[in-house]
Amino acid sequence: MNPIIHLTPPSISDAHIEKKVVCIRSHRERIFCISSELKNDKIICHLYGHGGAGWTFLFGSVQKAIKEFEQLIKNNPSYKKKPICVVGAGCFGLLSAITLSRLGFNVRIIAKETSNLASDRAAGFFFPRARKSSTPQERAIFESVGMDSYRAYLDIATGMHPFIKNASRLMPAYYNEDIDPGFGHYIEKGLIDAPEKVTIDFGNGKRYDALQYNTVFINPSQIMSELRRNSDELGIKIEIEDVQNLEELPESIIFNCAGKGAPTFNSDTRMVPVQGHLIRLKNQPPMDQLQYMINVRVAQVDPNNWSRDTLLYYAPKGNGILGITFIRGQADEAANAEEFDKLLARAGRFFGTAS
Ligand SMILES: Cc1cc2nc3c(=O)[nH]c(=O)nc-3n(C[C@H](O)[C@H](O)[C@H](O)COP(=O)(O)OP(=O)(O)OC[C@H]3O[C@@H](n4cnc5c(N)ncnc54)[C@H](O)[C@@H]3O)c2cc1C
Repeated sequence: MNPIIHLTPPSISDAHIEKKVVCIRSHRERIFCISSELKNDKIICHLYGHGGAGWTFLFGSVQKAIKEFEQLIKNNPSYKKKPICVVGAGCFGLLSAITLSRLGFNVRIIAKETSNLASDRAAGFFFPRARKSSTPQERAIFESVGMDSYRAYLDIATGMHPFIKNASRLMPAYYNEDIDPGFGHYIEKGLIDAPEKVTIDFGNGKRYDALQYNTVFINPSQIMSELRRNSDELGIKIEIEDVQNLEELPESIIFNCAGKGAPTFNSDTRMVPVQGHLIRLKNQPPMDQLQYMINVRVAQVDPNNWSRDTLLYYAPKGNGILGITFIRGQADEAANAEEFDKLLARAGRFFGTAS
């Protein structure tokens, strides 16, 4: 028999809903874009397209992008001391700017918006799976940047990171057995422990068999405030501007970290918007009882009586969040508002709490 894990369920009735959040992921088919080019006398480094796993691949991707940039500088030494403009103030723009500044470059950031970005709204799961359509070579990149990122999150969780404090944490994450979070190679390398089969029990008759992993909860809001603090402390100027064309920027080195704005600078046809719905909770039981993550498939019956599997997330971001949807091709935040009711209904069924 599996060990029983007693969990407090989140409260999800109307009095416990703080905000319904919609956000569009900028997803690139097969793999995100990390590339550097010398074009019309400017060095342009592109870093975007991570879709629903930008936080997961953040640290390794920034490291890879800056390594490629440094190689280009080595081959073109006249750019060595030139100032850099980073376009975008999400997690990719901020971390790139901070890393470049710490390497001694003179950096400024330009961004259309600096708050309530996809980077702030994200859930915080570490979910390092390659795309179904990725080639073997692309899978190897997912794996190496994912592992570099995971090591950074472990450093943050254990207080060893050089400049990000008190943000990610290790905690139990419960997955359905048929969900593959992509941890296989992490387990082989000893970065994540093999999961344990357990039965989770919400104390109200709702019990499920699950795989328990001990993995990082990223906490995007806390890391964003740490990144903003670091960027301030380094004196990195952030200017608000909607950039139309990278050529118009005076700097001769540009990092394109513009999220969903990025492909317009790169004529990239592989980008697809993917809409996501999340619900922020409030008035919860004591949060020390809710320090776990859930990622399961739950059957949902639609008005035509079709049953289909839908995903349910819970993570202890703020006072807890519920998710999630992945609606491909939808760039309109206002569309599909009915998804919130469906999400609350499946959360109510799963946790055994009124919705
Ligand atoms: C609902 C949801 C849940 C998610 N959950 C997770 C999760 O659990 N785990 C995970 O790993 N990832 C998750 N993600 C993905 C993650 O949030 C993104 O991949 C990541 O935040 C992308 O960061 P970014 O810096 O590229 O983009 P953004 O945060 O969108 O920042 C882009 C920046 O570029 C600026 N910009 C855009 N166009 C222009 C322009 N023309 N001129 C000037 N500036 C411009 C914007 O103003 C902004 O400052 C989730 C995403 C969503 C939407």
